[in-house]
Amino acid sequence: MDFFCTPIHTWYSLNKRDLPWRTTRDPYLIWLSEIIMQQTRIDQGLDYYNRFALEFPTVSDLASASEDQVLKLWQGLGYYSRARNLHFTAKYIQQQCHGIFPNDYKSILSLKGIGEYTAAAIASISFNLEYPAVDGNVYRVLSRYFGISTPIDSGAGKKTFYELAKELIKGNNPGMHNQALMEFGALQCTPKNPDCNSCPLNKQCYAFLNKKINELPAKQNKTKQRDRYFNYIVLLKENQTWLQKRTANDIWKNLYEFPVVETSEKTEIENLVKEPLFSEITDAAGNLQIENISDWKIHILSHQRIHYRFIQIRLTAENVGAANLVRVNKEDIFNFAVPRLLESYMNQHL
Ligand code: SF4
Repeated sequence: MDFFCTPIHTWYSLNKRDLPWRTTRDPYLIWLSEIIMQQTRIDQGLDYYNRFALEFPTVSDLASASEDQVLKLWQGLGYYSRARNLHFTAKYIQQQCHGIFPNDYKSILSLKGIGEYTAAAIASISFNLEYPAVDGNVYRVLSRYFGISTPIDSGAGKKTFYELAKELIKGNNPGMHNQALMEFGALQCTPKNPDCNSCPLNKQCYAFLNKKINELPAKQNKTKQRDRYFNYIVLLKENQTWLQKRTANDIWKNLYEFPVVETSEKTEIENLVKEPLFSEITDAAGNLQIENISDWKIHILSHQRIHYRFIQIRLTAENVGAANLVRVNKEDIFNFAVPRLLESYMNQHL
């Protein structure tokens, strides 16, 4: 398969981005970079990687941190289960593996939050093991170049691409090869308008020669989106507001937020105040006056559209504080890890 691999390796040596995790083989730092860079643009992820590597330079440092600290540092990056799993696994490695990162594929794969792709990336980059790391970039390059139209989100597709990737990695420097293929997909064979005229593979690329670039890779399922409606209740009294921790198995688990009343649609305020949860939050807070109601906005996640608004309530009585609410001085509010949409609101209004 040299006809395919050699031009990509050469391209990589000339075009690869200068990224901090490319100068290390430390499995902890490789793992950190891989988890942060999932579903994240490189410019955004880079800042987070640098902050984490500085704050927690070793797996023991991460294991010793509190979950609140980790979530706070992760704030704004989204997909918070990644941060919780990262922390869980750091503690596991510290306690069960004497702080030493496992060095074989199966043990790496058994760690919480590490799937086949991440295990292969760590095994190949840190330990020189021949496991192909097949991410979205790699699917795209292989499906276009080899003209494979089996959907990449089907069982048959996953198997086909994995088998091909396994053949391709044989006899190569596995860490470099995996990174080269991923980087080639990220920079050269881009999802939209790839610059095929400058591509070193264009003489044999099936998609280019057959004008199928927009059809490959093929997918069978479009992700279904669910609409949710969050009415955030911003309780205010003098210099204080109230937060709660999201503890359910749901988005943003263990992050903080204003108390929220979720409704099945955009509810009029007259109906919202009749909701039992609204009464619970506000009754516990004593007398109230609605000071401001924001417009509805929308926050898009991978499987959900969160419609949200803020209802600002000024409290006038002292009997405040349902059991699950935390009373917070405004100047301390930024110490709490909150979802990004709340951070914007806090920045502007508190
Ligand atoms: S020729 Fe175009 S489609 Fe084919 S591998 Fe190169 S960039 Fe991708």
